[in-house]
Amino acid sequence: MGEYIMTLDEGTTSARCIIYDRVGNAVSVGQREFKQIFPHDGWVEHDAMEIYSTQMAVAQEALLKASLTYRDIDCIGITNQRETTIVWDKETGRPIYNAIVWQCRRTADIAEWLRNQGYSDMIREKTGLIIDAYFSATKLKWILDHVDGAREKAKRGELLFGTVETWLIWKMTGGVKHLTDYSNAARTMMFNISTLDWDDEILSILDIPRAMLPEPVSCAGDFGETIFELFGGKLHITGAAGDQQAALFGEACFNEGEIKSTYGTGNFLLLNTGNKPVYSSSGLLTTIAWGLNGEVKYALEGSVFVCGAAIQWLRDNLQMIKKSSISENFASKVPDSDGVVVVPAFTGLGAPYWEPDARGAILGIKRSTKKEHVVRATLESIAFQSDDLIKAMEKDLGRKITDLKVDGGASLNNFLMQNQADISDIHIVRHKSIESTSLGAAYLAGLASGYYKSIEDIIEIKDIDKEFYPAIEDEDRQRAKAKWHRAVDAVLALAEDEEF
Ligand code: ADP
Repeated sequence: MGEYIMTLDEGTTSARCIIYDRVGNAVSVGQREFKQIFPHDGWVEHDAMEIYSTQMAVAQEALLKASLTYRDIDCIGITNQRETTIVWDKETGRPIYNAIVWQCRRTADIAEWLRNQGYSDMIREKTGLIIDAYFSATKLKWILDHVDGAREKAKRGELLFGTVETWLIWKMTGGVKHLTDYSNAARTMMFNISTLDWDDEILSILDIPRAMLPEPVSCAGDFGETIFELFGGKLHITGAAGDQQAALFGEACFNEGEIKSTYGTGNFLLLNTGNKPVYSSSGLLTTIAWGLNGEVKYALEGSVFVCGAAIQWLRDNLQMIKKSSISENFASKVPDSDGVVVVPAFTGLGAPYWEPDARGAILGIKRSTKKEHVVRATLESIAFQSDDLIKAMEKDLGRKITDLKVDGGASLNNFLMQNQADISDIHIVRHKSIESTSLGAAYLAGLASGYYKSIEDIIEIKDIDKEFYPAIEDEDRQRAKAKWHRAVDAVLALAEDEEF
Protein backbone atom coordinates (compact mmCIF):
# COMPACT_ATOMS: atom_id res chain seq x y z
CA MET A 1 0.00 0.00 0.00
CA GLY A 2 1.47 3.36 -1.09
CA GLU A 3 1.49 6.35 1.24
CA TYR A 4 -0.19 8.77 -1.19
CA ILE A 5 -3.21 9.17 -3.42
CA MET A 6 -2.93 10.60 -6.92
CA THR A 7 -5.81 12.66 -8.27
CA LEU A 8 -6.24 13.63 -11.88
CA ASP A 9 -8.29 16.81 -12.16
CA GLU A 10 -9.14 17.32 -15.80
CA GLY A 11 -10.67 20.80 -16.06
CA THR A 12 -11.99 22.87 -18.94
CA THR A 13 -8.79 24.82 -19.55
CA SER A 14 -6.08 22.77 -17.85
CA ALA A 15 -5.19 19.33 -16.59
CA ARG A 16 -3.86 19.00 -13.08
CA CYS A 17 -2.48 16.23 -10.98
CA ILE A 18 -2.35 16.59 -7.20
CA ILE A 19 -0.70 14.01 -4.97
CA TYR A 20 -2.14 13.92 -1.45
CA ASP A 21 -0.87 12.48 1.78
CA ARG A 22 -3.11 10.74 4.30
CA VAL A 23 -4.31 13.94 5.98
CA GLY A 24 -5.17 15.61 2.68
CA ASN A 25 -2.08 17.80 2.25
CA ALA A 26 -1.04 18.33 -1.35
CA VAL A 27 2.57 17.12 -1.51
CA SER A 28 2.95 17.74 -5.23
CA VAL A 29 1.08 19.46 -8.05
CA GLY A 30 1.50 19.32 -11.82
CA GLN A 31 -0.58 21.56 -14.05
CA ARG A 32 -0.68 22.40 -17.75
CA GLU A 33 -3.13 24.20 -19.95
CA PHE A 34 -4.34 22.73 -23.20
CA LYS A 35 -5.70 24.19 -26.42
CA GLN A 36 -9.20 25.67 -26.68
CA ILE A 37 -10.55 25.27 -30.19
CA PHE A 38 -13.24 27.66 -31.46
CA PRO A 39 -14.13 26.55 -35.01
CA HIS A 40 -17.22 28.81 -35.24
CA ASP A 41 -19.01 31.38 -33.14
CA GLY A 42 -20.40 29.57 -30.07
CA TRP A 43 -18.57 26.30 -30.82
CA VAL A 44 -15.97 24.96 -28.36
CA GLU A 45 -13.79 21.88 -28.86
CA HIS A 46 -10.78 20.18 -27.29
CA ASP A 47 -8.34 17.73 -28.84
CA ALA A 48 -9.10 14.53 -26.87
CA MET A 49 -5.62 13.13 -27.55
CA GLU A 50 -4.14 16.31 -26.10
CA ILE A 51 -6.39 16.00 -23.03
CA TYR A 52 -4.97 12.51 -22.49
CA SER A 53 -1.33 13.36 -23.15
CA THR A 54 -1.49 16.54 -21.03
CA GLN A 55 -3.11 14.67 -18.18
CA MET A 56 -0.46 11.94 -18.30
CA ALA A 57 2.35 14.50 -18.54
CA VAL A 58 1.20 16.35 -15.41
CA ALA A 59 0.82 13.05 -13.54
CA GLN A 60 4.43 12.17 -14.31
CA GLU A 61 5.53 15.70 -13.50
CA ALA A 62 3.82 15.56 -10.09
CA LEU A 63 5.54 12.27 -9.26
CA LEU A 64 8.93 13.59 -10.37
CA LYS A 65 8.62 16.88 -8.50
CA ALA A 66 8.15 15.03 -5.21
CA SER A 67 10.68 12.29 -6.09
CA LEU A 68 7.96 9.67 -5.89
CA THR A 69 7.42 6.52 -7.98
CA TYR A 70 4.32 4.46 -8.67
CA ARG A 71 5.21 2.38 -5.56
CA ASP A 72 4.40 5.38 -3.36
CA ILE A 73 0.89 5.71 -4.79
CA ASP A 74 -1.98 3.77 -3.25
CA CYS A 75 -4.59 4.52 -5.89
CA ILE A 76 -5.80 7.05 -8.45
CA GLY A 77 -8.97 9.17 -8.31
CA ILE A 78 -10.27 11.11 -11.31
CA THR A 79 -12.44 14.22 -11.46
CA ASN A 80 -13.32 16.05 -14.62
CA GLN A 81 -15.16 18.73 -16.58
CA ARG A 82 -18.60 17.24 -17.07
CA GLU A 83 -20.75 16.75 -20.20
CA THR A 84 -17.86 17.11 -22.66
CA THR A 85 -18.38 14.43 -25.31
CA ILE A 86 -15.81 12.17 -26.98
CA VAL A 87 -16.34 9.42 -29.57
CA TRP A 88 -13.46 7.18 -30.57
CA ASP A 89 -12.64 4.13 -32.64
CA LYS A 90 -12.35 1.03 -30.47
CA GLU A 91 -9.72 -0.53 -32.77
CA THR A 92 -7.37 2.41 -33.28
CA GLY A 93 -8.06 4.22 -30.00
CA ARG A 94 -8.32 7.51 -31.94
CA PRO A 95 -11.18 9.98 -31.57
CA ILE A 96 -13.31 10.34 -34.72
CA TYR A 97 -13.98 14.01 -33.92
CA ASN A 98 -12.68 16.60 -31.46
CA ALA A 99 -14.16 16.53 -27.96
CA ILE A 100 -17.27 18.74 -27.98
CA VAL A 101 -17.00 20.84 -24.83
CA TRP A 102 -19.89 21.47 -22.41
CA GLN A 103 -19.90 25.18 -23.31
CA CYS A 104 -20.48 24.46 -27.01
CA ARG A 105 -23.85 25.72 -28.30
CA ARG A 106 -23.86 23.97 -31.73
CA THR A 107 -26.68 21.63 -30.76
CA ALA A 108 -29.08 24.32 -29.50
CA ASP A 109 -31.41 23.44 -32.41
CA ILE A 110 -31.51 19.75 -31.42
CA ALA A 111 -32.38 20.79 -27.87
CA GLU A 112 -35.12 23.05 -29.20
CA TRP A 113 -36.47 20.24 -31.37
CA LEU A 114 -36.65 17.97 -28.30
CA ARG A 115 -38.58 20.67 -26.42
CA ASN A 116 -40.93 21.25 -29.35
CA GLN A 117 -41.67 17.54 -29.56
CA GLY A 118 -42.93 17.77 -25.98
CA TYR A 119 -40.19 15.68 -24.36
CA SER A 120 -39.36 18.16 -21.57
CA ASP A 121 -41.34 16.45 -18.79
CA MET A 122 -40.24 12.95 -19.73
CA ILE A 123 -36.57 13.95 -19.88
CA ARG A 124 -36.84 15.92 -16.63
CA GLU A 125 -38.43 13.01 -14.82
CA LYS A 126 -35.94 10.43 -16.04
CA THR A 127 -32.68 12.38 -16.11
CA GLY A 128 -33.38 15.20 -13.62
CA LEU A 129 -32.25 17.71 -16.27
CA ILE A 130 -33.84 20.54 -18.18
CA ILE A 131 -33.31 19.98 -21.91
CA ASP A 132 -30.24 21.91 -23.03
CA ALA A 133 -27.37 21.72 -25.52
CA TYR A 134 -25.02 21.81 -22.53
CA PHE A 135 -25.49 18.09 -21.76
CA SER A 136 -23.81 15.24 -23.69
CA ALA A 137 -26.77 13.62 -25.47
CA THR A 138 -27.30 16.20 -28.22
CA LYS A 139 -23.53 16.52 -28.74
CA LEU A 140 -23.23 12.76 -29.22
CA LYS A 141 -26.12 12.82 -31.69
CA TRP A 142 -24.39 15.63 -33.58
CA ILE A 143 -21.19 13.60 -33.99
CA LEU A 144 -23.15 10.54 -35.16
CA ASP A 145 -25.06 12.74 -37.63
CA HIS A 146 -22.02 14.58 -39.01
CA VAL A 147 -19.12 12.13 -39.16
CA ASP A 148 -19.36 9.86 -42.21
CA GLY A 149 -20.49 6.35 -41.39
CA ALA A 150 -20.32 6.98 -37.65
CA ARG A 151 -23.79 5.75 -36.73
CA GLU A 152 -23.38 2.47 -38.64
CA LYS A 153 -20.00 1.85 -37.05
CA ALA A 154 -21.42 2.68 -33.62
CA LYS A 155 -24.24 0.18 -34.17
CA ARG A 156 -21.67 -2.49 -34.99
CA GLY A 157 -19.92 -1.70 -31.71
CA GLU A 158 -16.86 -0.25 -33.44
CA LEU A 159 -17.13 3.19 -31.87
CA LEU A 160 -17.20 4.10 -28.19
CA PHE A 161 -18.63 7.14 -26.43
CA GLY A 162 -17.38 8.66 -23.22
CA THR A 163 -17.30 11.77 -21.11
CA VAL A 164 -13.78 12.79 -20.08
CA GLU A 165 -13.37 10.35 -17.14
CA THR A 166 -14.47 7.47 -19.39
CA TRP A 167 -11.96 8.46 -22.05
CA LEU A 168 -9.09 8.76 -19.55
CA ILE A 169 -9.95 5.43 -17.89
CA TRP A 170 -10.18 3.66 -21.26
CA LYS A 171 -6.83 5.05 -22.41
CA MET A 172 -5.09 4.48 -19.07
CA THR A 173 -6.24 0.86 -18.86
CA GLY A 174 -5.18 0.17 -22.44
CA GLY A 175 -8.78 -0.16 -23.65
CA VAL A 176 -9.70 -2.75 -21.01
CA LYS A 177 -12.28 -0.68 -19.08
CA HIS A 178 -15.12 1.25 -20.69
CA LEU A 179 -16.85 2.70 -17.63
CA THR A 180 -18.53 5.87 -16.46
CA ASP A 181 -19.39 6.78 -12.90
CA TYR A 182 -22.98 7.66 -11.92
CA SER A 183 -22.24 11.34 -11.28
CA ASN A 184 -20.87 11.88 -14.78
CA ALA A 185 -23.53 9.67 -16.39
CA ALA A 186 -26.18 11.84 -14.71
CA ARG A 187 -25.01 14.82 -16.81
CA THR A 188 -25.42 13.17 -20.20
CA MET A 189 -29.22 13.65 -20.46
CA MET A 190 -29.66 10.02 -21.50
CA PHE A 191 -29.15 8.34 -18.12
CA ASN A 192 -32.09 7.40 -15.94
CA ILE A 193 -31.10 8.57 -12.46
CA SER A 194 -33.65 6.31 -10.76
CA THR A 195 -32.98 3.00 -12.54
CA LEU A 196 -29.24 3.82 -12.88
CA ASP A 197 -29.21 2.73 -16.52
CA TRP A 198 -29.14 4.34 -19.95
CA ASP A 199 -32.67 5.18 -21.03
CA ASP A 200 -33.85 3.30 -24.11
CA GLU A 201 -36.61 5.79 -24.96
CA ILE A 202 -34.19 8.76 -25.05
CA LEU A 203 -31.58 6.70 -26.92
CA SER A 204 -34.16 5.79 -29.53
CA ILE A 205 -35.39 9.40 -29.95
CA LEU A 206 -31.80 10.54 -30.58
CA ASP A 207 -30.84 7.37 -32.50
CA ILE A 208 -27.90 6.65 -30.22
CA PRO A 209 -26.81 2.98 -30.25
CA ARG A 210 -26.52 1.50 -26.75
CA ALA A 211 -23.52 -0.58 -27.92
CA MET A 212 -21.29 2.49 -27.81
CA LEU A 213 -22.13 3.54 -24.24
CA PRO A 214 -19.92 2.83 -21.21
CA GLU A 215 -21.07 0.73 -18.28
CA PRO A 216 -22.28 3.02 -15.45
CA VAL A 217 -20.78 2.19 -12.05
CA SER A 218 -20.43 3.65 -8.55
CA CYS A 219 -17.96 6.51 -7.98
CA ALA A 220 -15.78 4.41 -5.68
CA GLY A 221 -14.77 0.97 -6.91
CA ASP A 222 -12.66 -0.86 -9.45
CA PHE A 223 -11.98 1.24 -12.55
CA GLY A 224 -9.12 -1.00 -13.66
CA GLU A 225 -5.33 -0.95 -13.67
CA THR A 226 -3.16 1.45 -15.61
CA ILE A 227 -0.96 0.02 -18.35
CA PHE A 228 2.58 -0.68 -17.20
CA GLU A 229 4.20 1.88 -19.52
CA LEU A 230 2.49 4.90 -17.93
CA PHE A 231 4.18 4.80 -14.55
CA GLY A 232 6.64 1.91 -14.85
CA GLY A 233 4.26 -0.26 -12.84
CA LYS A 234 0.53 -0.75 -12.53
CA LEU A 235 -1.69 1.54 -10.49
CA HIS A 236 -5.32 1.00 -9.55
CA ILE A 237 -7.93 3.61 -10.51
CA THR A 238 -10.53 3.42 -7.73
CA GLY A 239 -12.50 6.67 -7.84
CA ALA A 240 -14.20 8.95 -10.37
CA ALA A 241 -16.70 11.80 -10.13
CA GLY A 242 -17.73 14.88 -12.07
CA ASP A 243 -16.13 18.09 -10.77
CA GLN A 244 -19.08 19.60 -8.89
CA GLN A 245 -20.11 16.33 -7.27
CA ALA A 246 -16.48 15.64 -6.35
CA ALA A 247 -16.39 19.07 -4.68
CA LEU A 248 -19.53 18.22 -2.66
CA PHE A 249 -17.80 15.04 -1.50
CA GLY A 250 -14.52 16.89 -0.92
CA GLU A 251 -16.35 19.34 1.35
CA ALA A 252 -17.57 16.32 3.34
CA CYS A 253 -21.25 17.08 2.66
CA PHE A 254 -22.06 13.41 3.21
CA ASN A 255 -25.52 13.83 4.71
CA GLU A 256 -28.91 14.95 3.49
CA GLY A 257 -29.35 18.71 3.89
CA GLU A 258 -25.62 19.50 3.62
CA ILE A 259 -24.70 22.06 1.00
CA LYS A 260 -21.56 23.48 -0.59
CA SER A 261 -20.99 26.60 -2.59
CA THR A 262 -17.99 27.04 -4.89
CA TYR A 263 -17.32 30.76 -5.37
CA GLY A 264 -15.31 30.80 -8.62
CA THR A 265 -15.88 32.72 -11.84
CA GLY A 266 -19.47 31.55 -11.48
CA ASN A 267 -20.91 30.04 -8.34
CA PHE A 268 -22.01 26.41 -8.11
CA LEU A 269 -24.24 25.28 -5.27
CA LEU A 270 -24.96 21.63 -4.62
CA LEU A 271 -27.27 20.29 -1.95
CA ASN A 272 -27.14 16.67 -0.84
CA THR A 273 -30.79 15.49 -0.88
CA GLY A 274 -30.07 11.99 0.42
CA ASN A 275 -31.32 8.73 -1.04
CA LYS A 276 -33.94 10.07 -3.37
CA PRO A 277 -34.06 12.57 -6.19
CA VAL A 278 -35.80 15.84 -5.33
CA TYR A 279 -37.41 17.72 -8.22
CA SER A 280 -37.22 21.48 -8.03
CA SER A 281 -40.02 23.97 -8.42
CA SER A 282 -37.49 26.72 -9.23
CA GLY A 283 -35.74 25.18 -12.21
CA LEU A 284 -32.79 23.68 -10.33
CA LEU A 285 -31.26 20.50 -11.72
CA THR A 286 -31.62 17.12 -10.07
CA THR A 287 -28.56 14.95 -10.29
CA ILE A 288 -26.71 12.04 -8.76
CA ALA A 289 -24.21 13.17 -6.14
CA TRP A 290 -22.34 9.86 -6.02
CA GLY A 291 -22.63 6.14 -5.72
CA LEU A 292 -20.69 4.68 -2.79
CA ASN A 293 -20.90 1.38 -0.88
CA GLY A 294 -23.91 0.21 -2.89
CA GLU A 295 -25.85 3.40 -2.15
CA VAL A 296 -26.68 6.37 -4.34
CA LYS A 297 -26.98 9.93 -3.03
CA TYR A 298 -28.78 12.60 -5.01
CA ALA A 299 -28.25 16.35 -5.19
CA LEU A 300 -29.94 19.55 -6.30
CA GLU A 301 -27.68 21.80 -8.32
CA GLY A 302 -27.93 25.48 -9.11
CA SER A 303 -25.50 28.06 -10.39
CA VAL A 304 -25.03 31.81 -10.33
CA PHE A 305 -23.58 32.83 -13.70
CA VAL A 306 -21.63 35.83 -12.44
CA CYS A 307 -19.78 35.55 -9.13
CA GLY A 308 -16.00 36.19 -9.17
CA ALA A 309 -16.60 37.47 -12.71
CA ALA A 310 -18.27 40.55 -11.17
CA ILE A 311 -15.07 41.21 -9.22
CA GLN A 312 -13.05 40.80 -12.42
CA TRP A 313 -15.38 43.36 -14.01
CA LEU A 314 -14.67 45.83 -11.19
CA ARG A 315 -10.97 45.20 -11.73
CA ASP A 316 -10.64 45.01 -15.52
CA ASN A 317 -13.54 47.07 -16.90
CA LEU A 318 -14.31 49.68 -14.25
CA GLN A 319 -10.72 49.62 -12.94
CA MET A 320 -11.97 50.36 -9.43
CA ILE A 321 -9.62 47.81 -7.86
CA LYS A 322 -6.17 46.53 -8.82
CA LYS A 323 -6.55 42.99 -7.45
CA SER A 324 -9.63 40.86 -6.72
CA SER A 325 -8.63 40.38 -3.10
CA ILE A 326 -8.51 44.18 -2.51
CA SER A 327 -12.31 44.23 -2.89
CA GLU A 328 -12.47 43.06 0.74
CA ASN A 329 -10.56 46.15 2.01
CA PHE A 330 -12.68 48.51 -0.08
CA ALA A 331 -15.94 46.98 1.14
CA SER A 332 -14.82 47.15 4.75
CA LYS A 333 -13.91 50.87 4.51
CA VAL A 334 -17.58 51.90 4.46
CA PRO A 335 -20.26 50.93 7.01
CA ASP A 336 -22.78 50.00 4.29
CA SER A 337 -23.34 50.38 0.57
CA ASP A 338 -25.15 53.72 1.09
CA GLY A 339 -28.25 52.45 -0.69
CA VAL A 340 -26.44 51.21 -3.79
CA VAL A 341 -27.53 47.85 -5.23
CA VAL A 342 -25.62 46.14 -8.04
CA VAL A 343 -27.38 43.46 -10.08
CA PRO A 344 -24.60 41.84 -12.17
CA ALA A 345 -26.91 40.17 -14.68
CA PHE A 346 -24.30 40.48 -17.44
CA THR A 347 -25.51 37.37 -19.26
CA GLY A 348 -29.06 37.13 -17.98
CA LEU A 349 -30.40 35.80 -14.70
CA GLY A 350 -30.43 32.08 -13.91
CA ALA A 351 -32.36 30.20 -11.21
CA PRO A 352 -34.78 31.06 -9.72
CA TYR A 353 -35.52 33.87 -12.24
CA TRP A 354 -34.58 32.33 -15.61
CA GLU A 355 -34.49 35.50 -17.66
CA PRO A 356 -31.81 35.23 -20.36
CA ASP A 357 -32.59 38.74 -21.66
CA ALA A 358 -31.94 40.48 -18.32
CA ARG A 359 -28.96 42.84 -18.24
CA GLY A 360 -27.20 44.31 -15.23
CA ALA A 361 -27.84 47.53 -13.33
CA ILE A 362 -26.37 49.74 -10.64
CA LEU A 363 -29.24 51.27 -8.70
CA GLY A 364 -29.55 53.84 -5.94
CA ILE A 365 -26.59 56.02 -6.95
CA LYS A 366 -26.40 59.39 -5.15
CA ARG A 367 -24.07 62.39 -5.16
CA SER A 368 -22.39 60.81 -2.12
CA THR A 369 -21.76 57.43 -3.78
CA LYS A 370 -18.11 56.41 -3.76
CA LYS A 371 -16.39 53.52 -5.43
CA GLU A 372 -16.18 51.74 -2.07
CA HIS A 373 -19.98 51.60 -2.08
CA VAL A 374 -20.06 50.11 -5.57
CA VAL A 375 -17.42 47.53 -4.67
CA ARG A 376 -19.29 46.63 -1.49
CA ALA A 377 -22.61 46.38 -3.34
CA THR A 378 -20.99 44.11 -5.95
CA LEU A 379 -19.77 41.73 -3.24
CA GLU A 380 -23.20 41.89 -1.63
CA SER A 381 -24.78 40.94 -4.97
CA ILE A 382 -22.83 37.68 -4.92
CA ALA A 383 -24.27 36.85 -1.51
CA PHE A 384 -27.80 37.87 -2.55
CA GLN A 385 -27.70 35.72 -5.68
CA SER A 386 -26.38 32.74 -3.72
CA ASP A 387 -29.07 33.32 -1.13
CA ASP A 388 -31.77 33.20 -3.81
CA LEU A 389 -30.51 29.71 -4.71
CA ILE A 390 -30.24 28.59 -1.10
CA LYS A 391 -33.84 29.73 -0.52
CA ALA A 392 -35.00 27.86 -3.65
CA MET A 393 -33.23 24.74 -2.38
CA GLU A 394 -34.82 25.10 1.06
CA LYS A 395 -38.22 25.28 -0.60
CA ASP A 396 -37.56 22.12 -2.61
CA LEU A 397 -36.10 20.28 0.38
CA GLY A 398 -38.94 21.40 2.64
CA ARG A 399 -36.79 22.70 5.48
CA LYS A 400 -34.22 25.29 6.46
CA ILE A 401 -30.57 24.74 5.60
CA THR A 402 -28.39 25.64 8.57
CA ASP A 403 -24.81 25.03 7.40
CA LEU A 404 -22.88 25.93 4.28
CA LYS A 405 -19.40 24.73 3.26
CA VAL A 406 -17.54 27.07 0.94
CA ASP A 407 -14.63 26.86 -1.48
CA GLY A 408 -13.38 28.50 -4.70
CA GLY A 409 -11.20 31.61 -5.09
CA ALA A 410 -13.71 34.20 -3.89
CA SER A 411 -14.49 32.19 -0.72
CA LEU A 412 -11.22 33.64 0.62
CA ASN A 413 -12.98 37.01 0.87
CA ASN A 414 -13.93 37.31 4.56
CA PHE A 415 -16.28 40.24 3.97
CA LEU A 416 -18.21 38.22 1.39
CA MET A 417 -18.42 35.16 3.66
CA GLN A 418 -19.64 37.19 6.65
CA ASN A 419 -22.16 38.92 4.40
CA GLN A 420 -23.37 35.53 3.15
CA ALA A 421 -23.76 34.25 6.74
CA ASP A 422 -25.74 37.39 7.62
CA ILE A 423 -27.98 37.42 4.55
CA SER A 424 -28.71 33.70 4.50
CA ASP A 425 -28.84 33.31 8.29
CA ILE A 426 -26.47 30.40 7.89
CA HIS A 427 -23.36 29.02 9.60
CA ILE A 428 -20.44 28.93 7.13
CA VAL A 429 -17.42 26.66 7.29
CA ARG A 430 -14.33 27.30 5.17
CA HIS A 431 -11.87 24.43 5.25
CA LYS A 432 -8.09 24.89 5.09
CA SER A 433 -7.87 23.31 1.68
CA ILE A 434 -10.30 24.91 -0.75
CA GLU A 435 -9.24 22.43 -3.49
CA SER A 436 -12.30 20.36 -2.73
CA THR A 437 -12.75 18.97 -6.26
CA SER A 438 -9.43 17.10 -6.25
CA LEU A 439 -9.84 16.16 -2.60
CA GLY A 440 -13.26 14.66 -3.34
CA ALA A 441 -11.74 12.41 -6.00
CA ALA A 442 -8.96 11.44 -3.58
CA TYR A 443 -11.45 10.59 -0.82
CA LEU A 444 -13.60 8.47 -3.16
CA ALA A 445 -10.57 6.59 -4.48
CA GLY A 446 -9.14 6.16 -0.97
CA LEU A 447 -12.41 4.77 0.41
CA ALA A 448 -12.58 2.20 -2.38
CA SER A 449 -8.96 1.09 -1.98
CA GLY A 450 -9.14 0.79 1.80
CA TYR A 451 -6.67 3.69 2.27
CA TYR A 452 -9.48 5.29 4.29
CA LYS A 453 -11.59 2.89 6.34
CA SER A 454 -14.74 5.01 6.39
CA ILE A 455 -16.04 8.54 5.94
CA GLU A 456 -15.32 9.09 9.65
CA ASP A 457 -11.60 8.94 8.78
CA ILE A 458 -12.22 11.81 6.35
CA ILE A 459 -14.32 13.90 8.72
CA GLU A 460 -11.45 13.61 11.20
CA ILE A 461 -8.81 15.01 8.85
CA LYS A 462 -10.82 18.01 7.63
CA ASP A 463 -9.25 21.11 9.14
CA ILE A 464 -11.35 24.24 9.48
CA ASP A 465 -9.75 27.52 8.41
CA LYS A 466 -12.52 29.88 9.49
CA GLU A 467 -16.18 29.86 10.45
CA PHE A 468 -18.73 32.62 9.96
CA TYR A 469 -21.92 33.04 12.01
CA PRO A 470 -24.92 35.24 11.24
CA ALA A 471 -24.56 38.48 13.17
CA ILE A 472 -27.42 40.76 12.10
CA GLU A 473 -31.00 41.15 13.25
CA ASP A 474 -33.64 39.38 11.19
CA GLU A 475 -35.40 42.69 10.56
CA ASP A 476 -32.26 44.10 8.91
CA ARG A 477 -31.80 40.90 6.91
CA GLN A 478 -35.36 41.04 5.57
CA ARG A 479 -35.04 44.74 4.72
CA ALA A 480 -31.81 44.16 2.78
CA LYS A 481 -33.29 41.21 0.91
CA ALA A 482 -36.47 43.09 0.04
CA LYS A 483 -34.36 45.87 -1.44
CA TRP A 484 -32.35 43.37 -3.49
CA HIS A 485 -35.55 41.77 -4.79
CA ARG A 486 -36.95 45.16 -5.80
CA ALA A 487 -33.74 45.82 -7.74
CA VAL A 488 -34.04 42.41 -9.44
CA ASP A 489 -37.69 43.21 -10.27
CA ALA A 490 -36.56 46.43 -11.93
CA VAL A 491 -34.01 44.53 -14.01
CA LEU A 492 -36.64 41.92 -14.94
CA ALA A 493 -39.07 44.67 -15.96
CA LEU A 494 -36.45 46.21 -18.24
CA ALA A 495 -35.80 42.78 -19.78
CA GLU A 496 -39.40 42.83 -21.02
CA ASP A 497 -39.02 46.28 -22.50
CA GLU A 498 -38.14 45.69 -26.14
CA GLU A 499 -37.28 49.34 -26.69
CA PHE A 500 -34.65 49.29 -23.94
P1 ADP B 1 -12.37 29.41 -11.50
O1 ADP B 1 -11.98 28.04 -11.00
O2 ADP B 1 -13.80 29.56 -11.87
O3 ADP B 1 -11.43 29.98 -12.53
P2 ADP B 1 -11.37 30.39 -8.92
O4 ADP B 1 -11.96 29.45 -7.91
O5 ADP B 1 -9.92 30.29 -9.22
O6 ADP B 1 -12.24 30.39 -10.26
O7 ADP B 1 -11.71 31.87 -8.43
C1 ADP B 1 -11.34 32.97 -9.19
C2 ADP B 1 -12.43 34.01 -9.19
O8 ADP B 1 -12.63 34.50 -7.86
C3 ADP B 1 -12.08 35.19 -10.04
O9 ADP B 1 -13.25 35.59 -10.72
C4 ADP B 1 -11.64 36.26 -9.05
O10 ADP B 1 -12.01 37.54 -9.50
C5 ADP B 1 -12.41 35.89 -7.81
N1 ADP B 1 -11.64 36.14 -6.58
C6 ADP B 1 -10.45 35.61 -6.23
N2 ADP B 1 -10.05 36.05 -5.02
C7 ADP B 1 -11.03 36.87 -4.59
C8 ADP B 1 -11.22 37.64 -3.39
N3 ADP B 1 -10.34 37.63 -2.39
N4 ADP B 1 -12.36 38.38 -3.30
C9 ADP B 1 -13.28 38.38 -4.29
N5 ADP B 1 -13.14 37.67 -5.42
C10 ADP B 1 -12.03 36.93 -5.57
